[in-house]
Amino acid sequence: MAPTPTSAAVSHVGRIRANNQDSGYAGAHLFLVADGMGGHAGGDVASAIAAKRIAEADAEYPSARDAEFALQQALIAANAMLAETVFEHSELTGMGTTVSAILRVGHQLALAHIGDSRVYRFRGGELTQITADHTFVQRLVDSGRITPEEAAVHPRRSVLMRVLGDVDAAPEIDTAIFDTKPGDRWMLCSDGLSSYVADEKIQSILATVRTAQGAADRLVKESLDHGAPDNVTVVLVDIDDSGGASGIPPTFVGSAAMPLSYENDTSRRPIRLPTLLLHPLKATLPEDTHFEPEGEGYLEELIEEDRRRARRRRIVWLVVLVLAVAAIAGAVLAGYSWTQSHYYVGESDGRVAVYQGVQQTIGPIHLSSVYQATRIEVSSLSAYNQQSVEATINADSLRDALDIVDRLSTAAGG
Ligand code: CA
Repeated sequence: MAPTPTSAAVSHVGRIRANNQDSGYAGAHLFLVADGMGGHAGGDVASAIAAKRIAEADAEYPSARDAEFALQQALIAANAMLAETVFEHSELTGMGTTVSAILRVGHQLALAHIGDSRVYRFRGGELTQITADHTFVQRLVDSGRITPEEAAVHPRRSVLMRVLGDVDAAPEIDTAIFDTKPGDRWMLCSDGLSSYVADEKIQSILATVRTAQGAADRLVKESLDHGAPDNVTVVLVDIDDSGGASGIPPTFVGSAAMPLSYENDTSRRPIRLPTLLLHPLKATLPEDTHFEPEGEGYLEELIEEDRRRARRRRIVWLVVLVLAVAAIAGAVLAGYSWTQSHYYVGESDGRVAVYQGVQQTIGPIHLSSVYQATRIEVSSLSAYNQQSVEATINADSLRDALDIVDRLSTAAGG
């Protein structure tokens, strides 16, 4: 019997970006996601080079320790390859890529990770994030300067502290070994999924969609439904009890599935202009979200910049508040003076009186007051006029109100 495919890889350019800088790989034992960066040229090249180089480590290993070592070496080799490529193509300077990879060995897996792509484990209905983001905001969270909730909406949430690229000859790579259980789903994804789709939504999709391919497709669709401002890549691995290889031929998705195109660079640049015009904020925002780590000095500078931004925000809020209060006060005043241009005839202390204003009250505030009292006793009026006065008689103007009083006075025989 042919084994059911237990893994899937899906990548989508998203709704805003002009090219897909993500790469993904689902092989026999090895699975990875790489999210490239490098401005107008380079991001797609970086993730594709890294994905292809690391995929060479897709093999059976005698132990999880061996797999962990092989995976780490593969990431280091990919880092060296990126540096060599930049050396030969200086226009690619500054390109880099995240990598999150797992390599299965029996009922264990080795993991290697750098950047802000993520590995999640879905087990017993519960989703757990396994990797830690190597981001500026995660560092702020770790040092207690902001909360995880603030990090999720922080303007610099995509700024990376560690990547593979031409910057660091010895990149700091997280590695670990985990046990797997039949029924586990391991998900690797780029931030194009995790930044836009809530964990609860991811969890419910993994809980309800049976096949790996169906669930991966559904997750990518979820990101597209949220506008997909970024490239989005999902690699899903279902753990069955065989501990064996997945049932699909090794598959690359995203940039790694395309021929490398940095040799003739002319096709890359002009494409971006229309998207920039249509979505100036969304298209330009992701471009300045990556930087080459230059040590703690730069970090301090970023923190100081955030403080300045917070101060500016407070001042803007104060100005908005003052303007809002002034606007409300102005509206109230205008409304009140409108009511005071109206008159009516009614009863006050048993006598007919001319009131200025309207009969409504707002809470304790009466919008009318006696403008002119008269000597006419309400009880001296005919039953009909008494009723009219008690119910109040609207006047078009002060003159009209005084005329009404005259008529009542004449009818009463005063
Ligand atoms: Ca991304």
